[in-house]
Amino acid sequence: MTKEIFDILRKGDESGNNMIIRMRLSSGREIFGFATENTYGGGWDLGPTWNYVITSEKPFLVDAGRRGNGLKLLEMMRYSGIDPNGLDFVLLSHGHEDHDGGLFEVTRATGTKVMAHRIYKSLSRAYPRKAPSPEKRNFPAFCWDCPMPESFWKNNCLEYHKEKMRLEIISLDNLGQKISDGISVFHVPGHSPDSIALLIDKEIMLVGDTVLPDITPHPTCEHTFKMTKGIFQGHYREADEIYGLRAYIRSLKRLKGIGEEMPGLTILPGHRLFYQNRWNYMEDLAARITEIIEHHVQRCGDILKSLGDGPKRPEEIASACFEERLLKGFGITMALNEVLSHCELLEISKDVIFVEDGRISTTHRTGFESLIRDLR
Ligand SMILES: [Zn+2]
Ligand SMILES: [Zn+2]
Repeated sequence: MTKEIFDILRKGDESGNNMIIRMRLSSGREIFGFATENTYGGGWDLGPTWNYVITSEKPFLVDAGRRGNGLKLLEMMRYSGIDPNGLDFVLLSHGHEDHDGGLFEVTRATGTKVMAHRIYKSLSRAYPRKAPSPEKRNFPAFCWDCPMPESFWKNNCLEYHKEKMRLEIISLDNLGQKISDGISVFHVPGHSPDSIALLIDKEIMLVGDTVLPDITPHPTCEHTFKMTKGIFQGHYREADEIYGLRAYIRSLKRLKGIGEEMPGLTILPGHRLFYQNRWNYMEDLAARITEIIEHHVQRCGDILKSLGDGPKRPEEIASACFEERLLKGFGITMALNEVLSHCELLEISKDVIFVEDGRISTTHRTGFESLIRDLR
């Protein structure tokens, strides 16, 4: 793919903030990309969130940027000649704040409806009697296993969640569902349990944060399912159907299969399409997915290696496997999450055991690689 397939309607800054692009498909359909700001600070900068408008009988929006960016996004749409009041719906790629934070502003200004995977709707609600601790009683199930410290979520999150809980959400069901002519939705859990991908006219694959260029998306942890399984009303029986590294790798393989069937697909990601004055095209979905799976194989190997000189706590594994700049501030919670999701897989492949006092010990086996290769 060459960058000529995009018209640049507005140049953003060096990371692509505020950039607007447009592409025309051979079907005649147009897709617009809008990059909205997404800075948390620290070494884990994902770059702006890429939100997309897809023209159809009525256009629809995919994702709404971080909280505080909804109105900016609508302004970007107007700049591009799209009337936000004419939107058919907003569809969410997944329920992370950098994608749904602006949702309330967008719906309040336009009255448009919201569509998301049914897991999004389930996890966006509070269940006071099922919450794991009294402090989380008013928080949605999405937050029950939040790795951020209390000082963060007590001050930053409640308003955002209260807004979201007031929204009506139309649930999408599972795989292969057509939401309009030429557009199919795939459930690709793993980065988030509600992640979806969209195949558009067999020309475009919109992948959200499931496949990113330049950086590797974070997997969730299977242990979250212990807290949330009661709210899914029996739809999901095993943790790895929707959470953790195994779910993520299965989703990647499913997308890889589609990429192999349709090698000319243009891939539109949730971040890093343009970053630090550079386009990061993923020319080949299957090839990029192979790289991401290899990254996880490598990380499992690195964790086992770090355990060679004795059992370690997750924090010690994180300092052995991550650069120091990535462990600063909230970076440590991201790193710990990564370590734990890999250790869960290593426990299933019988390569590690969790010993008393929360330390992890190697069994001197290496079954993880064949476990990852055989996941279907
Ligand atoms: Zn995400
Ligand atoms: Zn994201």
